Amino acid sequence: MTYPTALKLDDGGRLLITWSDQVTWSYRVRELRDACPCATCREKRNTPPADPFALPLLSKVELEPLRIGGMKPVGNYAYSIAFSDGHDTGIFTFELLRELGAEVSTS
Ligand SMILES: [Zn+2]
Repeated sequence: MTYPTALKLDDGGRLLITWSDQVTWSYRVRELRDACPCATCREKRNTPPADPFALPLLSKVELEPLRIGGMKPVGNYAYSIAFSDGHDTGIFTFELLRELGAEVSTS
């Protein structure tokens, strides 16, 4: 099983993860946030909007660029990611992280 060996935020606010098999993957924060595997977010994604003609009001926090506030290892299989919108209950397994993002070509 591959596991992260280094985490970094680049200047554009992207997350860079270097993996034990020597590849580096780049992630947009929004992409990670949208893929949040916690029960609340899964439910939200599966529920269609109540009124398709209404535009939900965005809070000030939602209008600001989303950032990663912190990442904590969970066991030896996942990271919990805290986002700047205050959401921090998502546990991103290494497996899920390898399905998201894009490989950074080093050549
Ligand atoms: Zn979530």
